[in-house]
Amino acid sequence: MIINFKKNLFIYILIFFTLINWISCEKNTNGKLSVFVSILPQKYFVERIGGDRVDVSVLVGPGQNPHAYEPLPQQMLALSSAQIYFRIGVSFEDSWIHRIEANNPKLKIVDTRLGIQLVPLDSFEDITLPSDTAEAHHEVDESPQHTEHEGLDPHIWLSPDLVKIQAETICETLCQFDSGNAPFYQENLRQFCQELDALSQEIQQVFINMPSKKILVFHPAWGYFSRQFGLRQIPIEIEGKSPGPKQLAAIIDFARKERISIIFVQSQMSTHSAMAIANELDAQVVTIDPLGEDYMTNLKQIATTIAKNVQSTGN
Ligand code: ZN
Repeated sequence: MIINFKKNLFIYILIFFTLINWISCEKNTNGKLSVFVSILPQKYFVERIGGDRVDVSVLVGPGQNPHAYEPLPQQMLALSSAQIYFRIGVSFEDSWIHRIEANNPKLKIVDTRLGIQLVPLDSFEDITLPSDTAEAHHEVDESPQHTEHEGLDPHIWLSPDLVKIQAETICETLCQFDSGNAPFYQENLRQFCQELDALSQEIQQVFINMPSKKILVFHPAWGYFSRQFGLRQIPIEIEGKSPGPKQLAAIIDFARKERISIIFVQSQMSTHSAMAIANELDAQVVTIDPLGEDYMTNLKQIATTIAKNVQSTGN
């Protein structure tokens, strides 16, 4: 009886895996490149270049936080038959990349940070300290036990100029895998870059009359965005953590002096300390989404929201 059950169980497992295998092979035989990305904006980028030649899956889904994500077993299973994974440098990748590699040695892992000059993550301290002191602070931070990208800002998808560099890497990779369609990918890249330039110009216009260029944000996602568009983000979070009472008091003090009355937050993260500061300052909390899939529309909307709120309160 028990032996029979075990025998049957074995057969069921075998059938299960055969089915899974068959389904994943089916996916590949439709001729599309099977691609994985970490976050939703990347899905948009790859689809802009790859069009209907790619089948793109994303690890961090809507509403999830890329700083504390764990791929699901079914995502690992799907990754085991995927062809390309475009990583971008969000922090969950570091703890998972070796498992993803071991899971599918044939998977081509492409780092889309290639060719991008990463900068340290902004912190409230660096912004309020004189710039030479701030730089010294970073030099002290670079002790040998730190990993290559530790302390560097990963939010490279929020600057359209940097997206152009990422799009080039994506295009090159797709051309390598499917050289027969290289002209198609290259033409898509050309169009996409043109639209990114137009988007940059549009956003520049939105900010042109904004009286203050300083924006108080909970999570420091807007470093590269701010650099491109001449803004300055003042983050509440310090190295991924909510500030302590002393730091909180300093931020409140600073925001008061600067007459800041808006705090920008994102829905993927808890807004407790942002709320506390907002209460203290009698400020408003406004949500902007750094991870929206509809990239062009979302970024335009973010710019408009920032400009409108900063303007209407006259800070
Ligand atoms: Zn982030």
